Amino acid sequence: ATPTALLVGTGRGAQMGILIKGPEVLESTKTVDTIVLDKTGTVTTGRMTLHTVVSDGADRAEVLRMSGALEAASEHPIAQAVAEAAKAEGGLPEVTDFSNVEGLGVAGTVDGKHVVVGRPKLLAGHGLQPSDAIAQALQEAEAKGHTAVLAGWDGKVRAVLAVADAVKPTSKQAIARLRDLGLTPVLLTGDNTTVARAIAAEVGIDEVIAEVLPQEKVDVIKRLQAQGKIVAMAGDGVNDAAALAQADLGLAMGTGTDVAIEASDLTLVRGDLNAAVDAIRLSRTTLGTIK
Ligand code: ADP
Ligand code: MG
Repeated sequence: ATPTALLVGTGRGAQMGILIKGPEVLESTKTVDTIVLDKTGTVTTGRMTLHTVVSDGADRAEVLRMSGALEAASEHPIAQAVAEAAKAEGGLPEVTDFSNVEGLGVAGTVDGKHVVVGRPKLLAGHGLQPSDAIAQALQEAEAKGHTAVLAGWDGKVRAVLAVADAVKPTSKQAIARLRDLGLTPVLLTGDNTTVARAIAAEVGIDEVIAEVLPQEKVDVIKRLQAQGKIVAMAGDGVNDAAALAQADLGLAMGTGTDVAIEASDLTLVRGDLNAAVDAIRLSRTTLGTIK
């Protein structure tokens, strides 16, 4: 395509709510055959709310107070949901020794106790094992498609906190349109496999790659590329940045983090996946008419 045609394409993109880094981006957009979609904040709204608290050896108020204090120091969507619910029910104590383990959860000292909130694996690493009742409550929450995290202190897992995040109203239609363009959608998430499958089924995705740590997302993209796939990746989080940069075409949600936007070739201003469809169509028409 001529530089002029590419510039015209770029301008048309802007009108459609697609910010294109440079005219050359349209060239790589044309050939993608696989689109990897981050779950939280990309396929779903990323705005989570606390749904249920199942506790074991602590009352609900104490669980919210301890977990909420810790999560108030984290920017993760799960953390925000827990902190918000906790604040609504009372003041939060101070936290010291706070630490955040990307893709696993948070830990710190609250009221003189060492508190951990996150995936079972993180709590196990701190010597906190779930009772049968907690393990069952965790399974039940995940079967519903809720993201469930554990909270524990003083040698014991004290609660399951289930948060729910809604699928964006536009996701299902956009994924069907991506298929119509010949792309294979793949759902990629750090979340649990059961939850990921429930969300995938809701939006019409067959391929799911779950329980992937933030630093491993980039390896998933490399693996698909090694199989000969031309890969687009859509994401919103800090944890998606390396994968967005590695992908043949990186698409950032305009509603996401600056780090994700900087790592990407395209920004979908409204965070609507239909704009990904528009971008691919635009590149095909821009390049198709000129060749
Ligand atoms: P995604 O890939 O869907 O955006 P992340 O990689 O950010 O998900 O997180 C993966 C998992 O790690 C979460 O589903 C949750 O179980 C756990 N986790 C991460 N951060 C936190 C936190 N601040 N509090 C509790 N759990 C967390
Ligand atoms: Mg995300």
